[in-house]
Amino acid sequence: MDRNNLLSPLVPSWTSAAMLLSFFVYLGIAGSVLPGKLVPGVILSDGTRLQYRCNGLLSLLLLVLLLGFGAGINLVPPTAIADKGIEILSVTFIFSFLATLALYVVGFKCKGCSSSMKPHVTGNIISDWWFGVQLNPQFMGIDLKFFFVRAGMMGWLLINLSILAKCIQHGNLNQSMVLYQIFSGLYILDYFFYEEFMTSTWDIIAERLGFMLVFGDLVWIPFTFSIQGWWLLRNKVEQTTPAVIANCLVFLIGYLVFRGSNKQKHHFKKNPKAPIWGRPPKVVGGKLLASGYWGIARHCNYLGDLLLALSFSLPCGISSAVPYFYPIYLLILLIWRERRDDARCAEKYKEVWKEYCEIVPWRILPYVY
Ligand code: NDP
Repeated sequence: MDRNNLLSPLVPSWTSAAMLLSFFVYLGIAGSVLPGKLVPGVILSDGTRLQYRCNGLLSLLLLVLLLGFGAGINLVPPTAIADKGIEILSVTFIFSFLATLALYVVGFKCKGCSSSMKPHVTGNIISDWWFGVQLNPQFMGIDLKFFFVRAGMMGWLLINLSILAKCIQHGNLNQSMVLYQIFSGLYILDYFFYEEFMTSTWDIIAERLGFMLVFGDLVWIPFTFSIQGWWLLRNKVEQTTPAVIANCLVFLIGYLVFRGSNKQKHHFKKNPKAPIWGRPPKVVGGKLLASGYWGIARHCNYLGDLLLALSFSLPCGISSAVPYFYPIYLLILLIWRERRDDARCAEKYKEVWKEYCEIVPWRILPYVY
């Protein structure tokens, strides 16, 4: 294949740009008009709070339904995303770059904005570009951080469904593809079912919106988290029954730990007296939960997420390292994030954090790390 042929899928087309734009327009409209629980965000330094309309699940189901109808009349063929994967990837990359540029320029002008939109400028251009200058920038009343992460998670499911359609079209749907689709599909639906929990996560409350988050949400999540699906499209894997059972167990345990720990913290923040596993909670300094999952390790939620990530890759077998890109990347990311969160909490809670670390010495995996 000559160089032109090799690079041509990377050249963005108007069709892929229109697909991306339609997706964003749909998300903007659906997010604003569809009913959903209004969840108050954390209290900001000026005492105000942002409100998040958690209607992601409804928006996603409606979108899948609309695309299903669209496919029926050939408006958007089900394999369109899988067919134009690289093209859409390059359009999304360009969009992320331009969106970060706009955020950077607008951020500097926002001198009189409320605390969440006031620029936090370090003066280091690379750092300000990468980490962003605003905590919660808005566009036409839409919280961009919440919007981008929603777009990324939905994009991941749309890519998966399109890969599935392509697999069916080629007549090579197999057990591994079905397992990957079920596990990752449940994870994404669960994410939107519990979308309100997102409002208290690190990304939403502590991270500014720069290239790292824009690129991470729009490009990284949908295109790299679906690597297993792309890989299975081109590779056939035969799995033994014990391997399938083990794979299901990894998913199940991962899900219980991931969802259970995130739920416990969320409920604790709302009501510090709410029982944990049927018993009164153990609380350090009146602020930190030290029972349930939060008494086993300081970030059991990361452990659960890592097991889930592994369960998405196991259907691909062990003949190649490529499908393990996502769990390996997540391991590195979560170890780094745990360190940053630890530093943040040590500064915020001071002696109370020290006491908590003495009671719960393990960071992510008890007796190992
Ligand atoms: P957490 O949800 O663990 O939030 C950390 C914050 O929780 C701390 O800053 C502190 O905030 C509070 N906290 C910490 N320990 C305690 C305690 N013992 N009791 C009460 N409050 C406590 O972190 P993330 O936002 O990073 O992660 C949320 C989920 O998202 C995780 O399950 C993670 O795996 C997942 N995730 C997935 C990624 C992916 O790429 N797939 C990327 C990043 C995260 P406060 O100041 O409010 O007390």
